[in-house]
Amino acid sequence: MSYCVNCGVELDGSLKECPLCNTPVINPRERDLPPKPSPYPTDKGQVEVVRRKDLGILLAVVLTATGGTCLLLNLLVFSGSLWSLLVIGGCLCLFVFSIPVVFYSKMPVSLTLLLDGISVAVYLFMITYVTKSDVWFWQLGLPTAALVTGLAELLCLLSRYVRFTILSGALSLFVDIPVFCAALELLIRHMMALPLRLTWSAVVLTVCVIIDVALITILAKKRLRNEVRRRLHF
Ligand SMILES: [Zn+2]
Repeated sequence: MSYCVNCGVELDGSLKECPLCNTPVINPRERDLPPKPSPYPTDKGQVEVVRRKDLGILLAVVLTATGGTCLLLNLLVFSGSLWSLLVIGGCLCLFVFSIPVVFYSKMPVSLTLLLDGISVAVYLFMITYVTKSDVWFWQLGLPTAALVTGLAELLCLLSRYVRFTILSGALSLFVDIPVFCAALELLIRHMMALPLRLTWSAVVLTVCVIIDVALITILAKKRLRNEVRRRLHF
């Protein structure tokens, strides 16, 4: 039994240096003793890191199995309505949403947003096969999906020319929200054949304008901007 002369830890006979403090082990009787095998395994036995492609395959298999089994259940057992379209549409949307995360990370953001928007629109269209009428899809569902996609694309385009900080990001968000709310209210009123004017969205608009004015003032005044950044730690 030998011990490290520096830190006193017990050493295995095969060690050439202390595993704790790296002090070399010099045993004067080493020449007389037979060399001992190392107590540690030579094979590191590390688990291979999971690759994106594997995750993608797993996700595709799970989603396909979910959609397929629901379709069979719909056709063979609960055939009263086309309810499986809701599940299949959901699976399709999840698949499209996951493309940039697990399949192809180099896809441009604008294309990702466009594909996401299209998949949501397709999903909404699939729901029309379950509901009695498809008027809601053409007058509200499709325009809303197009509006959200358009606003997201606009933000994406803007981010190419303007460097987004938390403050300017918040500003663009609080410009987008009232636009979305006002358009949504007008679409709903149009669908319900009500006079086109703003009511609840006007309240959202007012609140957002106040926030926008405050944010623009903060962004314009360097001292204010630095103070906010210091207080909120960003
Ligand atoms: Zn030591």
